[in-house]
Amino acid sequence: MKKVRVRYAPSPTGLLHIGNARSALFNYLYARHFNGEFIVRIEDTDVLRNVEGGEASQLNYLSWLGLSWDESPDKGGPVGPYRQLERLDLYTKYANALLEQGLAYKDYREGSENYAIRFKVPENKTYAFNDLVRGKLSFESKDVEDWIIVKDNGIPTYNFAVVIDDHFMEISHVLRGEEHITNTPKQLMIYQAFGWEAPLFGHMTIIVNEQKKKLSKRDKDVVQFISEYEQMGYLPEAMFNFISLLGWSPQGNKEILSQDKIIAQFDPKRLSKAPAMFDKNKLAYINSRYIKKLSIDDLAVKIKPFLDKANIEIVDEAWLKLLASVFQDRLSYIGQIVELYHEFFHDDFKLTDDAYQFLVENNSLALIEAFRKMLENQAFEVEILDQAIQDVSQQLDVKGKPLYMGIRIAATGDMHGPSLANCMALLEKDRVLNRLQKVADKLRGDL
Ligand code: GLU
Repeated sequence: MKKVRVRYAPSPTGLLHIGNARSALFNYLYARHFNGEFIVRIEDTDVLRNVEGGEASQLNYLSWLGLSWDESPDKGGPVGPYRQLERLDLYTKYANALLEQGLAYKDYREGSENYAIRFKVPENKTYAFNDLVRGKLSFESKDVEDWIIVKDNGIPTYNFAVVIDDHFMEISHVLRGEEHITNTPKQLMIYQAFGWEAPLFGHMTIIVNEQKKKLSKRDKDVVQFISEYEQMGYLPEAMFNFISLLGWSPQGNKEILSQDKIIAQFDPKRLSKAPAMFDKNKLAYINSRYIKKLSIDDLAVKIKPFLDKANIEIVDEAWLKLLASVFQDRLSYIGQIVELYHEFFHDDFKLTDDAYQFLVENNSLALIEAFRKMLENQAFEVEILDQAIQDVSQQLDVKGKPLYMGIRIAATGDMHGPSLANCMALLEKDRVLNRLQKVADKLRGDL
């Protein structure tokens, strides 16, 4: 079998978009699964659309996602250069060869000495290929008009340059977006003109939004750039996992899979023909699962920059870890810590009707007053607080829900939440005592 060599060929026209990231990721999976090579080539011939820093940013976000590559402009390799604008001589040489063989012709723009080169589309030919995703596809030459392979400024068009490059870079398989299906017959014409073997093509389905419409960059409802996910605190491992499920499914029903497992299980036969739905809730769920797997120390490190940015004061290292452990199970993305923090530490402390009702029905006033008194001389550490809960339970003979829920409501305002002692330690003494006082006053009818 031919050595597997695949490539990701972005145009450096902007930030890494989820659709491009998916193309990159599937080529990467293909290479790693079949022990092949993964190449990054920059298709920068659309000069006006290139943006400064576009290439570096694409590469940075690919590495952030956990992809690595074997050959690229930054790493070099045996078949470089890996930027199309540095390969212009090669395209000119092969375009001239087509001119000489009469397979292409010069097309002069009126009143100009410059000419574009057009490929002469053969008559009555069928261009067929076996698509890795869609099976057999075929196109008739009569539906394609003679097309420009080199523009009159000497720069090749995509459909021409891509063939020269894929050939000389010895690309064996091309996985790319469905929008390139109609480009494929043009590319096959060039392979045939030179008598070269074409790679195998696989065109991945479109990505649609939750309304089943093709995801468009203008769709403000869906965050689409990888950098934006990084900024919100999505984890790269989770993004990798989620993107791998856009148009592919593993065998079995386990979808939370590490990169190694995805590579091992990857099977191009399981690439889907149906559009891939971008399910935001699924992404949030997958991300939350990866957040749950972090150690508290790691989570604390990841949380810190978000707190700093929001000007939230970090009491000390231990407090930061406590915060991480209290909220670990509630985070869909790391940046959500800011919102959760504000909800949890709100100064304007109010009870919902349900919560207040619970306290009334369970006669919680005595419990809250006794507990508050007990805490006055205590240090606010998790074990001490756990002990205090036990002590007040014995003292007043209250247990179970009336005990825990009563204290939780008075201390946090919430009827549910993570470990009560942890919550109180995190809130710190003054805040808890004030809250207990406020609730007791209200129950007594003083407020
Ligand atoms: N530069 C092209 C794109 O970004 C690459 C297409 C291909 O993979 O052939 O769409």
